[in-house]
Amino acid sequence: MALKISNTLSGRKEDFVPIEPGLVTMYVCGVTVYASSHIGHAMSALTFDIIRRYLEYRGYAVRHVVNFTDIDDKIIKRANEEKVEWKSITERYIKEYLDWMDALNVKRATVYPRATGEVDGIIAAIQTLIEKGNAYAAPNGDVYFRALSQPDYGALKHQSPDELNAGARIDIDEAKENPLDFALWKAAKPGEPNWTSPWGEGRPGWHIECSVMAMRYLGPQIDVHGGGTDLIFPHHENEIAQSENLTGERPFVRYWAHNGLLQAKLVDPETGKSSVEKMSKSLGNTLSVGRLLEMGDPDMLRMFVLGSHYRNPLTYTDESFEVAFRSLERIKSVFAPHENWGDPTSNEGKPEATAALEQAAASAKAGFEAAMDDDFNTPAAIARLFDLVREINKGRDTGASGASLNAARETLAELGGVLGLRMKELPPTGGSQDVEPFIKLLVDLRKELKTAKQYQLADRVREGLKGLGVKLEDRPDGTTWKYEK
Ligand SMILES: [Zn+2]
Repeated sequence: MALKISNTLSGRKEDFVPIEPGLVTMYVCGVTVYASSHIGHAMSALTFDIIRRYLEYRGYAVRHVVNFTDIDDKIIKRANEEKVEWKSITERYIKEYLDWMDALNVKRATVYPRATGEVDGIIAAIQTLIEKGNAYAAPNGDVYFRALSQPDYGALKHQSPDELNAGARIDIDEAKENPLDFALWKAAKPGEPNWTSPWGEGRPGWHIECSVMAMRYLGPQIDVHGGGTDLIFPHHENEIAQSENLTGERPFVRYWAHNGLLQAKLVDPETGKSSVEKMSKSLGNTLSVGRLLEMGDPDMLRMFVLGSHYRNPLTYTDESFEVAFRSLERIKSVFAPHENWGDPTSNEGKPEATAALEQAAASAKAGFEAAMDDDFNTPAAIARLFDLVREINKGRDTGASGASLNAARETLAELGGVLGLRMKELPPTGGSQDVEPFIKLLVDLRKELKTAKQYQLADRVREGLKGLGVKLEDRPDGTTWKYEK
């Protein structure tokens, strides 16, 4: 069965056929680096990480570009507040973002271009657009794109220019010929970072950076362009208009993939009423990725994201995280030690239980692929993994061979890995459970030493454990132990 992917532009699920066989070019809009990323940003990164991993599982090489918007009003404002250079703000949050994405097991993109590293290319692109009549320099030093020079402007949002004009909150700006026109270049205000251009000192507008970077690193036409649904208009609409007029090639993007936004409960401090809103720094209903990472197994957020189709909005609550955490525990429990896993090389076992398990593993894999081929339907794919977890536990309890148990667990690890779950890494347990078997072993050993009248060695065990904060207590019914600070 062919892989199908929803395309925001056509509004349909389409067969996935990349421009160049075997290679997928994918551009995903990244973050503006002026503050710590929240889990809504991480959700977008996780979504496209999962898509990328599945494309790779299907045999494609993926060239994946994610940009950093490292010049912007918010960055300048933050730098002024902290009385530091804008670069120290952007360096700080780029490093933090990459560290956090590593912790979340998000694969690094092939390239992470930054807007300020692409200014020459951006200026050249703006010049070309002016020459072609798609853009104009305004007297105030800004350069604007003439939105209606794109014949089907509004196609991505499925609205006509009149509808866009009526619906969107567009600033009426006297420098613009038409309210839908958007800035390619912004004249610098006094004291702002700026670059020299044919239109005076200034800096690039936001939309043009993505067109220039996507085309520079991936070519005039790309396979997949991703981002949150909030970027459809105007950002991605504008990217299409800029890119197609620059190159004359259509479509700029074969498949527009948009992830639903993360929402969170917001309580009005005055009325006490709660509502569900898009997670955003300006609303103050965010959870930073750093805080999330302190909450335990970092795969929990991925599990939460996998539980819903990527195009749907997702609402974060404490309960929803609890559910994700339990699911993760259940699925990873298959990789915890258990005396009945048996010898992984042994074919000895009950033939019926063995055959049933082998059959279940094959059908889970086929079901998983069918679900993922259907526009990356992760909730259905995860359901197949839970079926397999159940069958593995059943096989273990009904005497399936060690080899079949091992193979089924490897299948589960492989498929979970395709989704980016670190199946064989158990969640942190605070340390105590990890060392308990070893303490118990030493307690048993000490008992044997005493039976053998090796009292000196037995005392060494007791003193050694005491030094490590473990106190033994001998009672009539045996020895117990506890941690002691
Ligand atoms: Zn973008």
